[in-house]
Amino acid sequence: SVGKGKAEKVVTTTCTYCGVGCQFDLNVKDGKILRVTSNPNAPVNGMRLCVKGRYGYQFVHHPQRLTRPLVRQYLLEGKPRPAGADRGPWVEVDWDTALNLTAQKLDDARLQFGADSVGILASAKCTNEENYLMNKLARQVIGTNNIDHCARLCHSSTVAGLALAYGSGAMSNTMKDVAEQSQALFVIGSNTTEQHPVFGTMLRQAVLRRGVKLIVADPRRIDLCEFATLHLQQRPGTDIALLNGLMYIILEKGWADEAFIAERTENFDAFRENLKDYPPEKVAEITGVPVEQLYAAAEIMGTHKPMAVIWAMGITQHIVGVQNVLSLANLQMLLGNMGIPGGGVNPLRGQNNVQGACDMGGLPDVYPGYQKVTLDEARQRFEQAWGASLSPNLGMTVTEMIPAACEGKIKAMLIMGENPVMSDPDSNHVRHCLERLDFMALIEIFPSETSVYADVLLPAVTFAEKDGTFTNTERRIQRVRQAIDPIGEARPDWIILSGLAKRILQRGNRKIDASAPFAGWEYTSPAQIMDEVAAVTPIYAGVDYERLDRGESLQWPVRGKDHPGTPILHVGQFTRGRGKFHPTVHVPPADQPDGQFPMILTTGRVLYHWHGGEMTRRAETLMAIYDRPLVEISPEDAEALGVNGNRRLRLTSRRGSIEAEAWVTDRVPPGLLHANFHFPESPTNELTIAALDPISKIPDFKVTAVRVELVKEP
Ligand code: SF4
Repeated sequence: SVGKGKAEKVVTTTCTYCGVGCQFDLNVKDGKILRVTSNPNAPVNGMRLCVKGRYGYQFVHHPQRLTRPLVRQYLLEGKPRPAGADRGPWVEVDWDTALNLTAQKLDDARLQFGADSVGILASAKCTNEENYLMNKLARQVIGTNNIDHCARLCHSSTVAGLALAYGSGAMSNTMKDVAEQSQALFVIGSNTTEQHPVFGTMLRQAVLRRGVKLIVADPRRIDLCEFATLHLQQRPGTDIALLNGLMYIILEKGWADEAFIAERTENFDAFRENLKDYPPEKVAEITGVPVEQLYAAAEIMGTHKPMAVIWAMGITQHIVGVQNVLSLANLQMLLGNMGIPGGGVNPLRGQNNVQGACDMGGLPDVYPGYQKVTLDEARQRFEQAWGASLSPNLGMTVTEMIPAACEGKIKAMLIMGENPVMSDPDSNHVRHCLERLDFMALIEIFPSETSVYADVLLPAVTFAEKDGTFTNTERRIQRVRQAIDPIGEARPDWIILSGLAKRILQRGNRKIDASAPFAGWEYTSPAQIMDEVAAVTPIYAGVDYERLDRGESLQWPVRGKDHPGTPILHVGQFTRGRGKFHPTVHVPPADQPDGQFPMILTTGRVLYHWHGGEMTRRAETLMAIYDRPLVEISPEDAEALGVNGNRRLRLTSRRGSIEAEAWVTDRVPPGLLHANFHFPESPTNELTIAALDPISKIPDFKVTAVRVELVKEP
């Protein structure tokens, strides 16, 4: 499956899968990618690559790529949309036709129902420049803050929680200093070796080569547990109790960093008072973690400094996601582990550019650089830059937008590279809502489960066919470089968005002051877009392609052309001044087991696939290794069920039912199941609940009450 022969050219670029941000070389011959090879100068990964980075590129040349714009026949005929789910046949059209129709439909919705009847999804797969343009299109061209993307579903709790505690919602340290300078590692709710594999390797090496103490807290016995000093196997949804219990012991034993607390933090007394409710015995009862393990973990934390805390969606995807993050922020202040190498709070962002998509304003509450849409000063700055009056109202999150389609509040959507039917909770309801939209335009590389509900399908290019930048989980801005020509008539998203914005504005219904410095849409390159980003985004002020192409490795904030970037945040003082302790309270998960749904399902991903699987299911090497969805079930539960030869299971929740093959494994304890959401034939999110964290609006993907049955052979 890997091309043989000598490459005609080698192009260094950044991986399109996860937020680690590995760089590698695409070897190209006859306009095709022959293979991926390591590049020793890659700042994050050196010669390391995981299986997705090495072989996952194969989707680029897959025959199912969208190569021409598609429009539903009814639109071309000027007829009303057919009622029901089936929107009628697709017709291939030229770009002008597709963009003109899309511009007309979005502008019509805006005029008829108001700008806030339009919903926009940016994309964590696309470049910074493309996400910046999508944010500008939503706010300047349409006039709405209804823009969001899948960060809502992964780390919105992190962004909100860390912003409350520290004033900045991003990973504080670098992967390198965590791996090389920590004395202890606390990994909670992160299956690092499968989801951020190269960083997982760095953590394993920290244990094996430097003897770092590793504590893993996870309801499953994930691979990283093999390297851990201690595995705390807490019940799903009990992280706050666990963390408060550990901090109770740290205080009791005198391991807190009193000087740090006194000099750099506030609200400590209220926090300490709240901890009195979490004595070890009570915590053991709630979490299932034995008291002696709690003491052992607290001792490691209290006596090994610096300790880095690492987390992912096991922490964030709960109805208490923000409170979970605040608890971790409390822990690192209590131990004085902030602002130093080898310590910090280290949320691992999922998608390749989810950090950048947030940085670029792909969120309903902030402009680029986290400047709040509700602050007059910030809004006026962008009004002057873009020459348009902007909405002062908070926009809707994706988890609000889609239900709003059901209520008739969202009439039209523009979606770039997202697949909410696969990725959002309670997918039956998602389909039902998307069906009700008057219009949806989808910018995609493949037909997807969501494109069934689209009226226009605009073919975009992959990472290998465009230029731009991605920002990785540690805020490092890295170049993406075009290696091959676009496949068919597909276009880079930044060109598609520019064409669309110009057409909407040409209709003349939105008043724009053309003399404003960044009113226009005549972009000729992503480098030019980045210059505009730098001009309006203080944390990116010093970023330009010349510096990046010279080999400078920049982590934001980069405050000017002479500023070297900021590898470690919160040195000396927090972004908000003093770090703020927040008392946090254990709240049971929303979807409670009962007699009818007695087990708990937790969802996640596997090493060989990515997100909704649109790309990895089209990479033959990855499919050769993992070609079907597997549900992890404990040997005890498997035996009770009679899983013996007949290994197909039916999982049913209060919302839906799926079938998948069983994987009998002690990775999960009795009573717990784990399923991934990579395969449309087993749409796991038909089971999950759309219960949201009240602040971040993230759904609880981690605790779903289910019943499991054997599927009988016919
Ligand atoms: Fe790509 Fe992440 Fe694997 Fe690195 S660890 S090669 S960024 S998927």
